Amino acid sequence: MAYDFDLYVIGAGSGGVRAARFAAGFGAKVAVAESRYLGGTCVNVGCVPKKLLVYGAHFAEDFEQASGFGWSLDEAQFDWATLIANKDREISRLNGIYRNLLVNSGVTLHEGHAKIVDPHTVEINGERHTAKNILIATGGWPQIPEIPGHEHAISSNQAFFLKELPKRVLVVGGGYIAVEFAGIFHGLGAQTTLLYRGELFLRGFDGSVRKHLQEELTKRGMDLQFNADIERIDKQADGSLKVTLKDGRQLEADCVFYATGRRPMLDNLGLENTAVRLDNKGFVEVDDLYQTAEPSILALGDVIGRVQLTPVALAEGMAVARRLFKPEQYRPVDYKMIPTAVFSLPNIGTVGLTEEEAREAGHEVQIFESRFRPMKLTLTECQERTLMKLVVDAQTDKVLGCHMVGPEAGEIVQGLAIALKAGATKRHFDETIGVHPTAAEEFVTLRTPVGA
Ligand code: FAD
Ligand code: NDP
Repeated sequence: MAYDFDLYVIGAGSGGVRAARFAAGFGAKVAVAESRYLGGTCVNVGCVPKKLLVYGAHFAEDFEQASGFGWSLDEAQFDWATLIANKDREISRLNGIYRNLLVNSGVTLHEGHAKIVDPHTVEINGERHTAKNILIATGGWPQIPEIPGHEHAISSNQAFFLKELPKRVLVVGGGYIAVEFAGIFHGLGAQTTLLYRGELFLRGFDGSVRKHLQEELTKRGMDLQFNADIERIDKQADGSLKVTLKDGRQLEADCVFYATGRRPMLDNLGLENTAVRLDNKGFVEVDDLYQTAEPSILALGDVIGRVQLTPVALAEGMAVARRLFKPEQYRPVDYKMIPTAVFSLPNIGTVGLTEEEAREAGHEVQIFESRFRPMKLTLTECQERTLMKLVVDAQTDKVLGCHMVGPEAGEIVQGLAIALKAGATKRHFDETIGVHPTAAEEFVTLRTPVGA
């Protein structure tokens, strides 16, 4: 049977755009549907605007530290509306770039909500299009628990478009988004409380990293409340929010921001018209080739709930395009050694196994750790300390994990990730000449294991 398209991609986010462009480049006839914004979550309400706000928040400490280097500044003024307007302008520019990328690579763009009506047919804006393969790349959506008064809370989707910077913000959650936004609000001058239901935030990160960030955020004056969860939120006559915790305590805030994870975006997608199955967390179930239970339908990115990061969605998009249209170049995505950063202030950068994971996996580990005051701060009052940590297999000398909390941790760990991917040993690190004077050189001068 002749189809209208070889591949119909639903969702023009990180993974969908990558798959569509490469598939078209390999000669396939490709369409992409997008209901909301070109570039998806990352470009519009994720990585990019988040990083711009983090840069904005970072200026607060730069101004503070400048006096140690002889600069005197009048009292710094911050205008949220300017930051948001400039951010919006940049995002519109990126939306245009994404449009051009798609159109110039020969992809047909359909703007509207796409619904799958049978395993080879998509309906959008009242029209039906057939395709040999359909790719679900619809991403995720913030998930807020349905406690009484949850309608008064916002998620990251709204945070990027607030009209004003709230004076008192309560951030709920202990993952990437909670920690990053707490840093943004705090850095920009809001009185910020981070509320997390467990013992210590950033579950799954290395224990030293979690503890170190806790100490640094506390030093900066952020109010961290662990083992705390909200029972209800009530709006008061003056518009402020009264928050009652499960332990009976009450807090007041102008904004309650939930960052409690993301669900797959499957709303009105028509999966009931297919044999596609969901896993026990509600994400689309796929095999190693991103194939769903419906032979003509594939899925990738956040909607499959594996590793919810843009570079992973990009790699999966590339893998799908190659598998379908350039099988001789197909290489599976390697989910080991995925580096990641949390753009908290200070940043976390990490790649490989945490100490806990390494021990759990049965490695006999050697730990190398350094905490120091970065050189840039020596002329300032700032007492912030940087943490660097290597997890090494004592038997093979292989470096299993690198972890850092400090300025530019993400930038530094990206380079180390290549070394770890290539199987670097501690000896390779030791034999590498440092770049002096940098913070990063500490990673190649760690000589004595902790406890030795
Ligand atoms: P998405 O980018 O979400 O794209 C899905 C697209 O599908 C959307 O544009 C949506 O509108 C569209 N769509 C959905 N349903 C339909 C339909 N039925 N019809 C048509 N279109 C539809 N990752 C990082 O690596 N680094 C970061 O710093 C980072 N920061 C983040 C910060 C925040 C606040 C958030 C929320 C996420 C962040 N992420 C970050 C994660 C990253 O954004 C996602 O992993 C990535 O965007 C996933 O790409 P995707 O292609 O799977 O989906
Ligand atoms: P995460 O899964 O990272 O964190 C969710 C947090 O919310 C956890 O601390 C979790 O606690 C807590 N939580 C979950 N449910 C509840 C509940 N019902 N009540 C109270 N707390 C709850 O999700 P995020 O929303 O922060 O981010 C989504 C994903 O987006 C990330 O996992 C990441 O993959 C990606 N992302 C990446 C970024 C980056 O690369 N820099 C930045 C932002 C997002 P517990 O640990 O106890 O389960």
